[in-house]
Amino acid sequence: MGMKIAAKPRAPLVPVGRKRCDDPRIDYKDIAYLAKFMTPQAQLQSRRRTSFCAQCQRQLKQSVKRARFMGLLPFVG
Ligand SMILES: [Zn+2]
Repeated sequence: MGMKIAAKPRAPLVPVGRKRCDDPRIDYKDIAYLAKFMTPQAQLQSRRRTSFCAQCQRQLKQSVKRARFMGLLPFVG
């Protein structure tokens, strides 16, 4: 008689935006826009959440790094 282990309920992955690839205004100076794709701890959110394609997510990542270097966003860790 094996006890069935209930599947762990996953946190609902609510996309921050829908398909945002038609709107790729990723700019390291636009902090308000970048912040939409970051956690309150200033971590970049995963692609599943940002719903960006690989190219745009890469651009976003680069922009966040640039913004951090410029002192516009905090570093994590
Ligand atoms: Zn894209």
